[in-house]
Amino acid sequence: MSASVCVLGSSSKGNATAISFDDSGRFVLVDAGLTPRRVRAALVAAGATARFHTLRAIFLTHLDRDHWSPAWAKQLQRAPVPVIVRRAHAELALAMGVPAACVRPLDGSFRLGETAEVQPIAVPHDEIGSTAFRFECEHARIGHATDLGRVTDELLGAFENLDMLSIESNYDEQMQRASLRPFFLKQRIMGGRGHLSNDQAVDAARKLTASGRVQHLVLLHLSQQCNCPKLARDLFCQQVPAMAASLVISRPNEPTPLLRVRRVVLV
Ligand SMILES: [Zn+2]
Repeated sequence: MSASVCVLGSSSKGNATAISFDDSGRFVLVDAGLTPRRVRAALVAAGATARFHTLRAIFLTHLDRDHWSPAWAKQLQRAPVPVIVRRAHAELALAMGVPAACVRPLDGSFRLGETAEVQPIAVPHDEIGSTAFRFECEHARIGHATDLGRVTDELLGAFENLDMLSIESNYDEQMQRASLRPFFLKQRIMGGRGHLSNDQAVDAARKLTASGRVQHLVLLHLSQQCNCPKLARDLFCQQVPAMAASLVISRPNEPTPLLRVRRVVLV
């Protein structure tokens, strides 16, 4: 038995990651920024429908349009599943069309059925922040962090001893500065409450993979305007060489391979 993860798509055009904690075919989504139709198509494209056939819950990092597609509202009315958000995001979730019967506000750690312990970690992003999640099941410990302006000590503490890490690596600082984006937007992104640069992500990845347990390091939410997959790959391979063979770069419109994760016990 193993846990498995498939990033179905990740960019400012839409984010969704499927995680299963066992071999039952039941899975959760982290973010629903792709429409239900695109989620299904991505699972088919990844050849992952056997591992991911029954949706049991949706975790939302926050409510920006690229993380919550309103097309889910209809789908959830037909087939409700819990939509889990931090309490600070609950009101906005309702305003953005998440059906009231589905919203589950979360204050602290939480047990998802028999299979997983979930720890939400508030991270700085725009006004009301985003949420990183640590999932721990019998088979693996998985960390997922996207849309954060900086890596906090709380996040580093919660993400110790992971078996898999997915982290945003949004922009190359030089490309961001040289871009034609307006000044206020650059400020928003780079000012500590926006997104993580490649260098910030490298720094976090170096610390969080030092345990030697991490089997997959996935880079999320690369900017199409101010980043380049090859540039990010070269930087990570150079700066975090131990993870070079396990580095996966998510794409906007293409799922990653199905990534299996096992709990590593070091002796
Ligand atoms: Zn985003």
